Amino acid sequence: SLSIGIVGLPNVGKSTLFNALTKNDALAANYPFATIEPNVGVVGVPDPRLDGLAKLFDSQKILPATMEFVDIAGIVKGASEGQGLGNKFLANIRETAAICQVIRVFDDPDVTHVDGDVAPSRDIETINTELILADLQTIERALPRLEKEARTKKDKDQLAVVDAVVAARELLDGGTTLFAGAADAGIDLALLRELHLLTAKPFLYVFNLDEDELTDDAVRARLRDLVHPAEAIFLDAKIEAELIELPDAEALELLQSLGQEESGLSQLVRVGFATLGLQTYLTAGPKEARAWTIRAGATAPEAAGVIHTDFQRGFIKAEIVSYDDLIAAGSMAAARTAGKVRIEGKDYVMRDGDVVEFRFNV
Ligand code: GDP
Repeated sequence: SLSIGIVGLPNVGKSTLFNALTKNDALAANYPFATIEPNVGVVGVPDPRLDGLAKLFDSQKILPATMEFVDIAGIVKGASEGQGLGNKFLANIRETAAICQVIRVFDDPDVTHVDGDVAPSRDIETINTELILADLQTIERALPRLEKEARTKKDKDQLAVVDAVVAARELLDGGTTLFAGAADAGIDLALLRELHLLTAKPFLYVFNLDEDELTDDAVRARLRDLVHPAEAIFLDAKIEAELIELPDAEALELLQSLGQEESGLSQLVRVGFATLGLQTYLTAGPKEARAWTIRAGATAPEAAGVIHTDFQRGFIKAEIVSYDDLIAAGSMAAARTAGKVRIEGKDYVMRDGDVVEFRFNV
């Protein structure tokens, strides 16, 4: 399944964050084996709509969508040349679908910084540089073969790949990641897919701040600018670790006292899920209220196929009501009477918040 790799320099709060993610009852609920391997955790994607559905249908169980986080230790200056855990680091990160960089902003004289002092923009540079150097190595190794293939086959598609790789090399040489610069440079990332380049993956950033900086708009704006257009999440990993130990009501109180509406962990999972290009639709009944994972843009039959391949093969139609309409109506029957339940066919593109019943032939 698709996973997000958590990377960052040593002592920035990665483990604190990862442990909080995987020990979090709210997120890891229903998943007794949430930690597959020491560094891989499965978490539920928070979705309050599931509670709403469970109430309406008197469902016995709630099953959220899930996603994986991988704690990837070992990036330091020189990782691309094998420093630290260099090679292992690169192999691990290659397998993830997106990269989450944890950046230290918090000050703490008791926690040393590998490069002397706290400097978010420098740390972002350091990490990006290692990823960029790794990609340049990949390109240098692959390019002669790709060029030869293009020459001998005289294949237009293969020539386009070579052009894209050369353009990528230029961008990377200038210090820009493919994620940040490919679109502006007119590089089609699909042409680079076979190289599995690290900086072509979607990035997101977690800024680990001191408590008093959490709601400082000036600080947030400055940090956000550093990583634009990637998503930025602001949290205090120490507080997140405390929050998961508290009963719900007290956790909410602590959050509110910090001017937050949602925990950082919950934001991270939600934003991470979207960064992976994923979306959910919902089903509900007395047995369970459930969120199913689809890629954004999936059609109704593709969505049905996530439940069972037979549902996709035998797809006839989908009965769909939007979550808000269903809650407003108070029951499926009332929503139907109110004309809020739509019949959608095989070309329908699923929308966020669709509550669905499929009709199919077996
Ligand atoms: P990692 O090396 O990036 O995995 O960092 P750790 O999660 O092991 O954290 C390193 C040290 O920093 C530990 O002593 C943590 O308790 C501390 N730490 C982590 N997050 C914060 C934070 O938000 N504020 C402060 N003051 N300390 C933190």
